[in-house]
Amino acid sequence: MAGPVAAGRGLDSEAVRAAMVRKLREQGLHNAAVAQAFGAVPRHLFVDSALVTQAYEDTSLPIGLGQTISKPSVVGRMLELLLECPAVAQGRVLEIGTGCGYQAALLGRLCREVYSMERLRALHEKARENLRPLRIPNVHLILGDGTLGYPKGAPYAGILAAAGGEAIPDAWLEQLAVGGRLVAPAVVGGASGERQCLVVVDRTAQGCVQQVLEAVHFVPLKSGIV
Ligand code: SAH
Repeated sequence: MAGPVAAGRGLDSEAVRAAMVRKLREQGLHNAAVAQAFGAVPRHLFVDSALVTQAYEDTSLPIGLGQTISKPSVVGRMLELLLECPAVAQGRVLEIGTGCGYQAALLGRLCREVYSMERLRALHEKARENLRPLRIPNVHLILGDGTLGYPKGAPYAGILAAAGGEAIPDAWLEQLAVGGRLVAPAVVGGASGERQCLVVVDRTAQGCVQQVLEAVHFVPLKSGIV
């Protein structure tokens, strides 16, 4: 299929967005709320104007400073995993790695309150610009080192990271509510060596229960603010 016809920001985005959602559903996206959010948030407004024609393809794209907006199928997978936890939709959610703000916008439609952290000032500001016209009052952007979490909003019903480190930082587990769920990429060791996988942690009254899922490729989780 030919890509969408770009007329700058005047692209007929609703039709191409609907086509993207159809494809994601064919590939297994089953959560109706997540599909609806994908259909509502204009992904092309979050990428550079030179990349607008690719905005609705299932691909990751550069957003500057060596970072990328994750591909929609991966974003969908993570959102579905997060929302499997019944507390998430009605609770506060912490996102680590705002990037361009796209996933934060989706989370804003899916959860009651969203705190999204970014360590790169330029991207934090870009996300603010990107989100402004969408007027999503329940998404709060924070410039900060996400490895420390954001204690002011804790405890969180959900924590979602878009950058992967060697391990899940302790601060995230401490700030996760009992009954809450964390979804993040992290390096896990196995018989075939170390690789980055999607990790799900459910915090129960008895402690944390971890599942290691498929291999993924996320940008590295780094410390400090730049
Ligand atoms: N969800 C984003 C994906 C951005 S890529 C989107 O929709 O665009 C991951 C982001 O995580 C990058 O912008 C990177 O700068 C950020 N990041 C990496 N380590 C971080 C940290 N310790 N705290 C906050 N953000 C971090």
